[in-house]
Amino acid sequence: KQLTVELGERSYPIYIGDGLLAQAAELFAQRGISAKSPLLIVTDTAVGPHYLEPLAAALRAGGYTVAAHTVESGEKSKSLAVLQDIVATALEAGLDRKSAIVALGGGVVGDVAGFAAASYMRGVKFVQVPTTILAHDSAVGGKVAVNHPLAKNIIGAFHQPELVLYDTATLRTLPPREVRAGLAEMVKHGLIWDASFVAWLDENAQRLLALEPEALQYGLFEGCKVKAHVVSADEREDDLRAILNLGHTIGHALEAVAGYGELLHGEAISIGMIGAAKLALRLGCDPEIYTVTKRLLQHFELPTRMPPHLDTDAIMTAMSHDKKFKEGRMVYIVPTAIGRVEINKSVQAELVRDIVNELK
Ligand code: NAD
Ligand code: ZN
Repeated sequence: KQLTVELGERSYPIYIGDGLLAQAAELFAQRGISAKSPLLIVTDTAVGPHYLEPLAAALRAGGYTVAAHTVESGEKSKSLAVLQDIVATALEAGLDRKSAIVALGGGVVGDVAGFAAASYMRGVKFVQVPTTILAHDSAVGGKVAVNHPLAKNIIGAFHQPELVLYDTATLRTLPPREVRAGLAEMVKHGLIWDASFVAWLDENAQRLLALEPEALQYGLFEGCKVKAHVVSADEREDDLRAILNLGHTIGHALEAVAGYGELLHGEAISIGMIGAAKLALRLGCDPEIYTVTKRLLQHFELPTRMPPHLDTDAIMTAMSHDKKFKEGRMVYIVPTAIGRVEINKSVQAELVRDIVNELK
């Protein structure tokens, strides 16, 4: 399956299929990535052992010169120190302005390798080869970044890839908990934009959990499509991008309070989406929104309640840092129908506190 993302003047293809790594050289060449300059593949210690050689071999067979850099698996690799190491490997390998940096991995590798591509020699070409389900979200939209000890994703850039090569065969080694967490973002993409995709997710949850190639290809395709549509429309219509934050207001606060690690991002936003659906109920929306949201997340074996030991005050404080309450009111993404949300700019903080308590 192929999808074209259009962002302003630029557009790039997303290829999704089983066994696509083998076609890497051909697809790179079609996008004008030169074989005269060396490529650098950035991967991590969990992904590299499975897929670095197959990808590098496919590229070499097509005439490319390939170097590789492997970072530790995990969020800690989104740092300036790791960026410096990647740049050192790029220099040693002789990467020049016509080179490309290739991210082979999940969102962590995509973000740090993408920022390396955005900044090395003031920007070289970038290719995303996502290996997690969550990365259907992170690989579209062009946001790349590393963390600072004081704040997540605070040092970054917009840098669009030349192409995204999504080989669903790589997902077979993904730990099941990561599979479910990635599916939470897929559910989010349905809930914010596309009622028929929600209905499909409702019927095909088991196939997705079992990593059936056809189901994965369809689900990732539709999820990327929603993300691409929202980010490209946002270039004209300010604010629209905010709808991608469904479930993230509470979700980010839960991640921060639980300490990164106890909850995966997808698990935290699963609980956050239940919170948003409860808020919709309180604001008088169709009760079906809550029923469907909960059923979907349960199909995907995602949490719908938060760990009860988390302190409500701490969660409220974390939200106020994230979203800045004004006079006891906050901005909140609230579902108004299945496949539709609104940006409500005056949700009472007290109401949100009630909901946080209900989520325990
Ligand atoms: P990740 O990259 O850490 O991958 C999750 C875990 O699975 C890691 O341990 C990784 O080593 C392992 N892994 C990845 N692919 C594997 C495979 N095929 N087989 C076996 N193990 C594999 O995390 P993620 O969930 O993909 O992404 C999270 C990151 O993405 C966060 O840093 C987040 O900030 C970022 N993100 C960025 C954007 C964006 O727009 N740029 C959007 C959403 C999230
Ligand atoms: Zn998210």
